[in-house]
Amino acid sequence: MQYVIIGNGIAGVNAAEAIRRMDPDGRILMIGDEPLLPYCRPMISMVLEGSVPLAKLPIRPASFYDDCKIEPILGNRVTGLDVDAGRVDVNGKRVAYDKLLIAAGADPRPIRAEGLGLGNIAYMRTEAHVRRMLAALDGGARRALVLGGGLVGFKAAYGLMCRGLAVTMLIRSGYPLSMQVDAFAGGMILDTLTAHGLDVRVDIAAEVFEGKDTVEAARLSDGSRLDCDLVVIGKGVLPALDFVPRDRIEVDLGLVVDLFLQTSAPNVYAAGDAAESIDVARQTRWVNAIWPEAAAQGKVAGINMAGRTVPYERSLSRNVIRIFDLDVMTAGVVDPQMITGTEVITRFDPATRRYRQLVFQEDRLVGMTLVNAIEQGGVLMALIQNRIPVAGRRERLLAPGFNYRAVA
Ligand SMILES: Cc1cc2nc3c(=O)[nH]c(=O)nc-3n(C[C@H](O)[C@H](O)[C@H](O)COP(=O)(O)OP(=O)(O)OC[C@H]3O[C@@H](n4cnc5c(N)ncnc54)[C@H](O)[C@@H]3O)c2cc1C
Repeated sequence: MQYVIIGNGIAGVNAAEAIRRMDPDGRILMIGDEPLLPYCRPMISMVLEGSVPLAKLPIRPASFYDDCKIEPILGNRVTGLDVDAGRVDVNGKRVAYDKLLIAAGADPRPIRAEGLGLGNIAYMRTEAHVRRMLAALDGGARRALVLGGGLVGFKAAYGLMCRGLAVTMLIRSGYPLSMQVDAFAGGMILDTLTAHGLDVRVDIAAEVFEGKDTVEAARLSDGSRLDCDLVVIGKGVLPALDFVPRDRIEVDLGLVVDLFLQTSAPNVYAAGDAAESIDVARQTRWVNAIWPEAAAQGKVAGINMAGRTVPYERSLSRNVIRIFDLDVMTAGVVDPQMITGTEVITRFDPATRRYRQLVFQEDRLVGMTLVNAIEQGGVLMALIQNRIPVAGRRERLLAPGFNYRAVA
């Protein structure tokens, strides 16, 4: 059996390990365009922040590929896929597969602006990107402009603030992390960030970057000009599927997979940021581009590829984020308008700045946003992920101290 895995991120790595455990003799080829050991992508923001050194990023030892008998083809991007012939194109060569996993992750969403080729302008997705930012810091960068207030834009801004830079963030919605938290929690986050000096501007885009070799200023859509010597682009991601023939394999935003993480093409599976599976809270297809999803999906895809049929039914968006003195934990539906028939309950204590929003649909909890009230967050998440009907008065879940037995 010849297994080919595209992507050496966490989804690809967990798939390869699962396959190897079940099939000691099959041939596994892993193709990845980053010529590195697998590393913890979320931690690049901690490297930027200065709390973790670059050397701590790898998640597997140097012997990983040998230990698992994986043949790595690194530093090369897959450019074509022929699902009828069962082969992929890489570096001018054709590589045949019996089973293929597409775990290619996501690429940063590109932006349009003049002067993007100047130095000190970086996306934030890879180790190489963060190295570029560190070089800009070493070169004396002091004023940063961050485009985007989603998870990546926020983490870039936060990291640079921790480094002492003056940071301006351009966002489209009225508050940062609008996909992760509800509007009230978003307001709390915005207040905290601005109190720590972040300059946030809403509904303004960068149109032109100016400078000689490196960026020196940005011209913005409101006609203003902003001095900056580092620009980070964090406007979201798109599944990295350039090589996928969309007439032969179903793609929505991500590669559409069934319960067994198989795509519409025979013997082709997908996992991680590249895959679109059924989200338990929304009960619809969704790309949950987060680390624990990629890890779990990779493992289950690998098991299915190696011949044991195991369903994956637990896809859920979730996050835990620390923002200065705010602890934020979210899962599932944070904007109740996103689905029909919701009931929302909230509690905010201004003295302690503890906040909870819980979103119900019929008798199920489908979403939570917790700020500084994250104890029992695991219990609430288990209720969402396992679709456990909630009995009794729902308001009890807003108070600290409830336990699982009392509600389920
Ligand atoms: C700055 C940042 C902060 C984050 N913070 C969090 C967080 O706090 N919590 C959280 O849960 N998640 C976070 N994430 C998201 C998390 O990192 C991803 O969900 C996870 O890494 C996805 O894993 P993956 O294996 O699907 O894809 P990836 O990690 O993207 O790995 C895919 C690999 O495939 C390679 N590849 C792509 N196309 C090709 C091709 N055609 N040929 C060959 N190789 C290819 C890519 O270069 C990459 O190396 C963060 C991400 C970033 C960038």
